[in-house]
Amino acid sequence: MAGYLSESDFVMVEEGFSTRDLLEELTLGASQATTGEVAAFFVADLGAVVRKHFCFLKCLPRVRPFYAVKCNSSLGVLKVLAELGLGFSCANKAEMELVQRIGVPASKIIYANPCKQIAQIKYAAKHGVQLLSFDTEMELAKVVKSHPSAKMVLCIATDDPHSLSRLSLKFGAPLKSCRHLLENAKKSHMEVVGVSFHIGSGCPDPQAYAQSIADARLVFQMGAELGHTMHILDLGGGFPGLEGAKVRFEEIASVINSALDLYFPEGCGVDILAELGRYYVSSAFTVAASIIAKKEVLLDQPGREEENGSTSKTIVYHLDEGVYGIFNSVLFDNICPTPILQKKPSAEQALYSSSLWGPAADGRDCVAEGLWLPQLHVGDWLVFDNMGAYTVGTGSLLGGTQACHVTYAMSRVAWEALQGQLLPAEDDQDAEGVCKPLSCGWEITDTLCVGPVFTPASIM
Ligand code: PLP
Repeated sequence: MAGYLSESDFVMVEEGFSTRDLLEELTLGASQATTGEVAAFFVADLGAVVRKHFCFLKCLPRVRPFYAVKCNSSLGVLKVLAELGLGFSCANKAEMELVQRIGVPASKIIYANPCKQIAQIKYAAKHGVQLLSFDTEMELAKVVKSHPSAKMVLCIATDDPHSLSRLSLKFGAPLKSCRHLLENAKKSHMEVVGVSFHIGSGCPDPQAYAQSIADARLVFQMGAELGHTMHILDLGGGFPGLEGAKVRFEEIASVINSALDLYFPEGCGVDILAELGRYYVSSAFTVAASIIAKKEVLLDQPGREEENGSTSKTIVYHLDEGVYGIFNSVLFDNICPTPILQKKPSAEQALYSSSLWGPAADGRDCVAEGLWLPQLHVGDWLVFDNMGAYTVGTGSLLGGTQACHVTYAMSRVAWEALQGQLLPAEDDQDAEGVCKPLSCGWEITDTLCVGPVFTPASIM
């Protein structure tokens, strides 16, 4: 063990006890608090992160994973990933400081933001962060001036028109400007050591990785012709974090492995990296948020009755967190959070058209609409799973504290696997199957299915 994570950083979950039990205990405790103050909180299954890592190693054995800190900068995640030996992809000074504070050496950090503040480039220079990305002459010039010994990674644009979040609208040099940029770097005595790209998040076509790897190969050739010694290929992020993703991680991995064999075969001397965010954390975090206000709104359709006999009304619930807080992935990532109810409603219980809103007094703070839920009450808790990506910690990097409290849990088998850095069981199952016992046993059970068009809520 490298010593980044210790047993005091998390709740050790023994066999038969799941994160769900832990969450129930915590919501019960919070409900009984006498102050009347409630605050949403997370439960994070670090074993799920460990499991993802082993799956990654199995599916992409030639790729060295870096973690994109912006995705979820909570300390437990950073520590467990540091313990697993990952490098870190940082977008700014706050992220570099955070990972360096937990002891990650500068050699394991890439400052992967082609749009950098000069002061932050100077910070990287002073603190030994050598790998920086760039995609324009202007960015290069800034680094030449403020960090002349940096090793540059040229970020190329990708063809990502179908990605949910199209990073190439903002980042990445088109292929036709790469030669010019490489010449410029040479003239400025800057070393360009590699190529990176990011196919965008939620990309439905794994061939986008293959195309970008082929493009990167062309840029490597240009670099070699101009005298750059290029030895890093950075595949960026965009790998799905959830089981139900349009394209499975294993499918993407298989496309990448074939493209690497073709364009960067084993033994070619190129170090292959990826900067994964959501892949590692999406499914590991569950959040509990409480109802702080409720309003019934009559629908403007006299005489109309719902199919189940209830009157024609919709119920608006306000939670203590909204899209300007932990549900920002609704705006940022197009996710549709689905609440899990703690108490299963009986078959006779009426379900009402319902929506969930955050605490902000504006019309955009809508967490979820089109739900059919039983009558809920102020003080009830709603639980949302798969809440690990782009939800936690983005606003409070420096204090080391999160706006919302995170309780970390890990099963003993995951802790032991982490200590040994070994898969707990090797058999012929697929990668996910092999790794399953590592997480704390969170499972979604029944779903509520009433009403014509709705988003089903799940039951704890
Ligand atoms: N690398 C860079 C440069 C990014 O901008 C991002 C996300 O925006 C990531 C990696 C992580 O992406 P994802 O969470 O889709 O894996």
